[in-house]
Amino acid sequence: VSFGFEEVSPEEKVSRVKGVFRSVASRYDVMNDLMSAGVHRLWKHDTIAKLNPQPGERLLDVAGGTGDLSKAFVDRADKVARRRGKAGEASAIVCDINDAMLDAGRARSDMAAYDSRIGWVCGDAQALPFEDRTFDALTIAFGIRNVADRAQALSEFRRVLKPGGRLAVLEFSHMTVPMLQKLYDTYSFNVIPRMGEIVASDRASYQYLVESIRKFPKQEDFRDEVEAAGFSGVSVTNFSGGIAALHFGWAA
Ligand code: SAM
Repeated sequence: VSFGFEEVSPEEKVSRVKGVFRSVASRYDVMNDLMSAGVHRLWKHDTIAKLNPQPGERLLDVAGGTGDLSKAFVDRADKVARRRGKAGEASAIVCDINDAMLDAGRARSDMAAYDSRIGWVCGDAQALPFEDRTFDALTIAFGIRNVADRAQALSEFRRVLKPGGRLAVLEFSHMTVPMLQKLYDTYSFNVIPRMGEIVASDRASYQYLVESIRKFPKQEDFRDEVEAAGFSGVSVTNFSGGIAALHFGWAA
């Protein structure tokens, strides 16, 4: 398994990834906004729009960190409920391997109103602590890149989704406009680690994030992986010229 440019064992990768996110947890939301100039919010908005949450549905937000997607899912389902006069409250579980990220999420002031709707569970994407066929939708945003055994995680996603459930994987990806590649490389290899140093006093973690993006499979290769795990109708939507991509599919 590769950790950035270094080859390490899967166990070592899990422990290092935990270390990275433990170290960035308290500044995580600020850094997300800074690094992407707030654009991650638009990508997340479009991801939830594609999922089309409905009243009464249950979402599992794997590697959910501080809970952005869960909150957006519940909000959007509530809008549908109001607009169409439908009954039922949507709910979400944020599942993350790192309790420091979950604590940072729970402590968010805008989460207080969601106490009864959003649950927080510590768990590994590769061995989800949930029964088969439990959820209507499953998201994982900027998380699959950190998982050592992606095939195992995808098979877990399929297991916990109900038949016909929707999967949305949002992840940094590869530029589709070659001319912008150089600009992007300069930004990611120089600016992001420097920002990490200044804002979070942690250059190494942000260096890791940049390198792991490079190592992640191209859009079409990851689509093959999602299909191989038993998802059908898998589509790819590129955001911002491929800086991020959404893979969306249906559990068989
Ligand atoms: N989804 C959130 C968002 O978009 O803001 C958080 C993304 S953050 C970049 C990646 C998260 O993945 C971290 O919170 C980290 O703890 C979590 N993570 C890493 N490996 C994991 C694993 N094997 N299982 C579950 N969560 C994991």
